[in-house]
Amino acid sequence: MTQNQPPQPARSKITVLYIDDDPQNRTLVNRLLTSYGYKILEAANGLDGLAVAQQIQPDLILMDINMPGLDGHETTTRMRGIPALTHTPIVAVTARITRGERELALASGCDGYIPKPIDIDTFPNLIASYLHGYRDNLPPDVHRQYLGQYSQKLVERLEGKIVELETAHKKLQKIDKIKSDFITLAAHELRTPITLIYGFARLLQLRAGTNGADPTAEGGLVDLSGRIFNSVDRLNATVNDILNIALVEADEMRLSREPVSLGQIIMAAMKELNPAKNNRILTIGYEGLDTLPAIIGDASRLQLAFWNLFSNAVKYTEDGGSVFVKGRVVDTPPAIPASALPPAPIKRGGVLVSVKDSGIGINPADHQQIFERFYVVADTAYHSSSKTAFGGGGMGLGLAITRGIINAHGGAVWVNPQTSPGSTFDVFLPLGDPH
Ligand code: ADP
Repeated sequence: MTQNQPPQPARSKITVLYIDDDPQNRTLVNRLLTSYGYKILEAANGLDGLAVAQQIQPDLILMDINMPGLDGHETTTRMRGIPALTHTPIVAVTARITRGERELALASGCDGYIPKPIDIDTFPNLIASYLHGYRDNLPPDVHRQYLGQYSQKLVERLEGKIVELETAHKKLQKIDKIKSDFITLAAHELRTPITLIYGFARLLQLRAGTNGADPTAEGGLVDLSGRIFNSVDRLNATVNDILNIALVEADEMRLSREPVSLGQIIMAAMKELNPAKNNRILTIGYEGLDTLPAIIGDASRLQLAFWNLFSNAVKYTEDGGSVFVKGRVVDTPPAIPASALPPAPIKRGGVLVSVKDSGIGINPADHQQIFERFYVVADTAYHSSSKTAFGGGGMGLGLAITRGIINAHGGAVWVNPQTSPGSTFDVFLPLGDPH
């Protein structure tokens, strides 16, 4: 092949993947090789390059070496471990031209080495020769020597990254603690004045009702005091959520232990939520709740846990949909995802309650994360804090508190992966005293 007769690819669409973090380099190589009939794919870093290479399996890969993240050597070594790419020609295209750089590139797994800046007259010929099977090689002893050097470099990089990660992790833990402490402190400080405002607002509301004020007049005393009371009630619930999650996190949720009728608790939670009163049109059904045996637990906390599940089922189900609760006794514990398990192993049977709705459903990728505190799926910019309105959202604490309560009872709560359309939350609670 001569410089004047640049090679034409044998088939019209030979695919070349060019991995380089410099967009100008990519543009130059792209224009040049495209004019010779090649199809060029680009990636701006090693990880993206790996993903493209695995998906497309190009005929040739051009690899920049100096890149942030995985560098060209590491990306090449990684590619060599992927069966589909073991024999793909990989050519280093690099500004690293000092002594030993070619050897290092070949030791890492490259088949060739083209120094930058590229010579646009000879570059297409070189590409064609690699495509036709040319491979640059090192004598075995040189190869061994540079492989040793390369392994050393890899271990040093790994060590540096581990130190970096550990430092970042410690910093994050510290920030997380400061944040948690602040939230708990703020919630504690808010609690006393809110309790007072709550009491006085209720008093005002009752007085207004008995003082002959028109209860139907918009902007009248009854109306206004009612609005104050409702707002404080919501604020109160929010502060309680924050204090509850603080208890869950500190593992300090002290439970009372008494025989509890789950059926009654579940019905009470639904009655308290009362979606119909808030103009929601939903079909609500129950099955098997009256015959559930008593479990040992904390009635008010369990009621809160089921209230959260109902509130979500109602919030995320359109009018015309349904919420269905089914309870049954299971002799052996069901299959529970590892992330949902309580600290102590579940060894015996218990009660399994499923809260199923026909609503918008939950993306399987979010099934675990929604139980993390402050995790909300929807964009918080469109946030509304209603407990019953369709699409209303909270702070992303409800499920974290629910899991904390259920785990503290030695049980588990998780999203049933088989539900669609809609969602089903399964709750397992062991029979007998969990402690
Ligand atoms: P919040 O208090 O904001 O409702 P949760 O912890 O209760 O937070 O829920 C976290 C997220 O899980 C919600 O933002 C919602 O996207 C999703 N989610 C919970 N329950 C359901 C459900 N029944 N249907 C659809 N999405 C749900």
